[in-house]
Amino acid sequence: MEKKKSRFETEVIHAGYSNDEHQGSLVPPLYQTSTFTFANAEQGERRFAGKEEGFIYSRLGNPTVKILEDKIAVLEKGEAALAFSSGMAAVSAVLVALTKTGDHILCSQGVYGCTFGLMELLKEKYGIGHDFSLMDSKESLENDILPNTACIYIETPINPTMKLVDLEMVARIANEKGIPVVVDNTFCSPYLQTPLALGCDIVIHSATKYICGHGDVIAGLVVGNKEFIGIVSRTTQKDIGGIISPFDAWLLLRGIKTLPVRMDRHSANAARLFEFLKHHAQVDSIYFPGDSEHVDYDIMKKQMKQSGGLISFTIKGTKETAQKFMNHLQLIKIAVSLGDAETLIQHPATMTHAVVPEEERRKMGIENTLLRLSVGLEAWEDIKEDLEQAFDKI
Ligand SMILES: *Cc1c(COP(=O)(O)O)cnc(C)c1O
Repeated sequence: MEKKKSRFETEVIHAGYSNDEHQGSLVPPLYQTSTFTFANAEQGERRFAGKEEGFIYSRLGNPTVKILEDKIAVLEKGEAALAFSSGMAAVSAVLVALTKTGDHILCSQGVYGCTFGLMELLKEKYGIGHDFSLMDSKESLENDILPNTACIYIETPINPTMKLVDLEMVARIANEKGIPVVVDNTFCSPYLQTPLALGCDIVIHSATKYICGHGDVIAGLVVGNKEFIGIVSRTTQKDIGGIISPFDAWLLLRGIKTLPVRMDRHSANAARLFEFLKHHAQVDSIYFPGDSEHVDYDIMKKQMKQSGGLISFTIKGTKETAQKFMNHLQLIKIAVSLGDAETLIQHPATMTHAVVPEEERRKMGIENTLLRLSVGLEAWEDIKEDLEQAFDKI
């Protein structure tokens, strides 16, 4: 029987799982197994030949992992999905699948530090070039696409300056030219933004962040059409082997159920803290997609449900002022990562983007006084009071 399509808040709990297929177990069972037995030799032959559905070996697929993959495919409005051992395993599986020697990758103005590292490696070892593009108009994008551009790779909001890319505009131009558009949707989660519904082709997540939401798993996800997901499954995932463990998939299935509830709270807390920081005398500039004066506010309104839980700001003073401020925080923890229940603060220039050369970093807008706050689920007043007391001490 075809299941009735439900709203996001319902799908996040029920999609991809049928209790009837698992002894009535309310929550998805954990299939903590490396391999699967065949009833007889002929069944093994049929499974390997792809003539019969069924599991073989957990690097090639696992029932707990499959439930997670089916769920994220529904949530991202894609046809199929794959889970990985980390966000970077997902990014590398996608980029290796899409490119060959001599190709070119066109990226948004900023990308995650290790994604930049991977692109540098692809350039040095395999001659796959990359360039950054502002992508702030049809003309700028068309100018930056080269004859050998094999894919367009976008993060929006861009880490950590929170600039946005108009996904519908990019997808329209790329589709005309037959270039696949990949979006790292980590900062939004499918609750706030669904790039595939806007015409993009592939979505990547560091599921470590909002999808998990509890700071206890490193994982990645890729969503796309059946053909592309099939290729990755049979090549870069199977043969490079960055697969998720069944237990981590099980933890993600547990965490993802509360995604909409958590995102509502992250966004609401961040919006209140933005108002506080924006008017603070020791804050120089502030970057938050929900700022009505933000250059990309109209894009935010168009493609995001809410403005999310991340705020970046520069503090008046020097790198040392920024570090001193961090050291005075008590409730807010100094840590990279984001999307957890705990509010976290990090210093991009010396942490997440330390691998990016200073000149490139400046081009991305990462000053030495920039701080990035991942607003947690605590009472916003307590987070504000912690920021306040640390400001008072510098
Ligand atoms: C964390 C992150 C990654 C890398 O994910 P891991 O799970 O740490 O491997 C990629 N992209 C973005 C935007 C991230 O925040």
